[in-house]
Amino acid sequence: PPDGQSPPWYPSPKGGTDKAWAESYKKAAELVTQMTLVEKVNVTTGTGWSMQFCVGNTGPVPRLNFPALCLQDGPLGIRFADNITAFPAGVTVGATWNKELMYQRGKAHGKEARLKGVHVLLGPAMGPLGRMPAGGRVWEGFGSDPVLQGIAAAQTIKGIQEEGVMATAKHYVLNEQEHFRQALEWGTPNAISSNIDDRTLHEIYAWPFADSVRAGVASIMCSYNQVNNSYACQNSKLMNGILKDELGFQGFVQSDWLAQRSGVASALAGLDMTMPGDGLKWADADSLWGPQLTKAVLNGSVPMDRLDDMVTRVVAAWYQLGQDDTDKWPLPPPDGEGGPNFSSWTHEKIGKIYHGSPSDTRTGVVNKFINAQGEGDDSHGKLVRRVAAEGTVLVKNEDHVLPLDRKGWKANEKANKEMKFRVGVFGEDARRSRNGINACPDQSCNDGTLTTGWGSGAVDYPYLVEPFSAVREAFNNESVYVTDWLENTLPSQKEILEDQDICIVFGNSIAGEGYLKWEDVRGDRNDLYLQKKGDKLIQDVAKGCGKGNGKVIVVVHTVGPVILENWIDLPTVKAVVIANLPSQESGNSLVDILFGEINPSGRLPYTIAKKEDDFGPGSKIKFFPSPKDVFAPQQNFSEGLYIDYRYFDKKDIAPRYEFGFGLSYTEFHLSSLLITSQGPKSPLPAPRPSGLEPPTYSTDLPNPKSALFPKGFHKIEKYIYPYLESIDDIGKTEVKAAQLQSPLGEAGGAQGGNPDLYTTVVSVSASLTNTGPVDGDCVVQLYVSFPENYNDDVTGEPVDFPVRVLRGFEKLSVDASKQASVKGPQGRGSGNSQTVNFDLTRKDLSYWDTRRQNWVMPTSGEFKISVGFSSRDLPLQGTW
Ligand code: BGC
Ligand code: BGC
Repeated sequence: PPDGQSPPWYPSPKGGTDKAWAESYKKAAELVTQMTLVEKVNVTTGTGWSMQFCVGNTGPVPRLNFPALCLQDGPLGIRFADNITAFPAGVTVGATWNKELMYQRGKAHGKEARLKGVHVLLGPAMGPLGRMPAGGRVWEGFGSDPVLQGIAAAQTIKGIQEEGVMATAKHYVLNEQEHFRQALEWGTPNAISSNIDDRTLHEIYAWPFADSVRAGVASIMCSYNQVNNSYACQNSKLMNGILKDELGFQGFVQSDWLAQRSGVASALAGLDMTMPGDGLKWADADSLWGPQLTKAVLNGSVPMDRLDDMVTRVVAAWYQLGQDDTDKWPLPPPDGEGGPNFSSWTHEKIGKIYHGSPSDTRTGVVNKFINAQGEGDDSHGKLVRRVAAEGTVLVKNEDHVLPLDRKGWKANEKANKEMKFRVGVFGEDARRSRNGINACPDQSCNDGTLTTGWGSGAVDYPYLVEPFSAVREAFNNESVYVTDWLENTLPSQKEILEDQDICIVFGNSIAGEGYLKWEDVRGDRNDLYLQKKGDKLIQDVAKGCGKGNGKVIVVVHTVGPVILENWIDLPTVKAVVIANLPSQESGNSLVDILFGEINPSGRLPYTIAKKEDDFGPGSKIKFFPSPKDVFAPQQNFSEGLYIDYRYFDKKDIAPRYEFGFGLSYTEFHLSSLLITSQGPKSPLPAPRPSGLEPPTYSTDLPNPKSALFPKGFHKIEKYIYPYLESIDDIGKTEVKAAQLQSPLGEAGGAQGGNPDLYTTVVSVSASLTNTGPVDGDCVVQLYVSFPENYNDDVTGEPVDFPVRVLRGFEKLSVDASKQASVKGPQGRGSGNSQTVNFDLTRKDLSYWDTRRQNWVMPTSGEFKISVGFSSRDLPLQGTW
């Protein structure tokens, strides 16, 4: 097993050390200083599952106008709400490789959250990161590489938070599979333990969280699983050490729903908010915090300054996002009209106020049906369509079968143009589910066209444009005849295939969150093949289409990599489109690509292998605990850094389609690589700068009596209050001096880490030319190879590096050459060109040295810098 440990890291670093948050901490300190003990506890603890309108709700401090916060899923839309947009899933967004779209989607999502009264959006997801291609929730994140995840996450956070909504970077960390993610669901004594070494943690899985913190994310959600046999929500190394010290996180850590497994230990380890507030079981109202935290502070088990820090972090985040602005965020009733204007628990206008309370049956207006979807040019549907189209990856296009012509025959095709052009559309995935677009709880079934994975990260669809109808409408019906067979088992009459000039056939593969299942898929996929006999359907269509002379176009909707080998090389299969998870505009975005309205520019955010085993032994889901897993199933991340393309490159395995790959309808050429050093190589960043002083408060404990329920207080059954029933069992208060002072990390000092880690040390530029026939967007990717045969400059020990790692990407629009027939120097069209620029930071060119606990840049040997079109198509190479 990896050498990973969960060393103690105490005490919890206090927020308020970063300049970027100085104002907010100042205001927060002024408010928190006025709060009583119970008021403080109220801010840290959810009020119980389904007790208020959102999936998570904190207790308010009405006396000081600090509201109850509404926390709502999720990464792709407002869950359980009406009149909202189903945005494309993370994996589709990652496949766009378009930073501007990542940001725009975040912003539109944030705006919808604000209009619905959501304070804290439970997204973006950047873990699971994709160690396991079959992992049930990998589609919620942006792709199987930390840099792609990190950039997409940061852009999303920027967009969401510009709308005044707090974003949540989740799930921290290593919740890479659904099986055994938590004990309750899976019937094991404890949740799975992801066992990892410190270097891999830093270089792969924590990396996107660092980018999120650097982007100023307000909240981070700790995950269900254990890490090195300590629960993520009580792991002091992860929260105190890495997040709060090393990454300088100024916001608050909230638990995943029931991921908190201890009271005092989690508080000391750096948890700031417990969600949904209940204890070890759903809706048990037996919180590990709430009154228990009140008590723990009163008896000295949790120092007052830890509680103060928790609350200050939450209140500071609220100020940081401008949520004290009562024009945008009116106070909730009875003083105002604000708060969430929808209920997660009913679609009716009138419903229970305290839905989860068995005995409190008061009702009121719970849904105001506010339309948050934007209108006209700002309609979020337009953005969805663009993201989904750009997140569609064309991986095969022989004989230029695509783009299709709306009139059927293309101008240059020798054909009997008197005859109608015939198109057949096949497969259930081309049509909507017959049961409606929101028939399954949290979208947990594969029925009809696939546009999303399932779970808390799915939403109710406002509408769904199905692929079949959109394709039929796109063709000119005077010259084209479209037939359909929208099932996965073909009829016995062969004409439906034989008559076609072109056959478009659809297949899919779903996965989701572990509390739900579809057929025998309990979250994680059981294999990487198309589901519902999709392979057989495609094979049959490929055989019969046009009596073997038809051209077949395959469209795949999927949560992640699928194995295409059963049909990819069949001679009639001319084009293959990986459309990922497009969401509500599915049909429109597909038509944009198939008919060339948008030139394909999506690139794979993961590797497509020829066979499952090619992903390596580490990529296997643990489906059953073994007898060795006495207390918890153990999952060793023994492959270390070698996941996805890093594994294929290391083992020299040929994938079917590599990470970063995708085709266009035009051609691009790269030239003129320029590598400019911005300074000398040096192993270590500048010393950690010192931060600001966090706010301090009186450490005096209040009279315990102040924590008792006020006389005559009306309790709502199941609602979690901070008050105590009795103070008889508090015991003697004993405030112990801190036992341990872990040394501050040299890698820390600002949001995202030591600011010097983000100093540009090398600039790279290249020239991109469109040499083909049409305008198009191209993703230029930069990969770094660390020096070969490198030995650590202090220990002299060899350091192993992946063959290459992604360190930057840019998407550029380049018009086609205006004189396409004029040949340039290399016999290509002279084309139009654009310059692409990259800045490589110190961190980009460093590895995590576990001994020095710092990012170290190799100073001997040469870095290889490669620029190109995918992880394996890198025409430009230079050194530094
Ligand atoms: C999921 C989180 C989600 C939370 C609230 C959990 O089960 O893992 O991603 O935000 O529920 O719905
Ligand atoms: C809830 C989700 C939550 C899941 C976690 C479900 O009952 O609806 O919000 O993510 O449980 O297990």
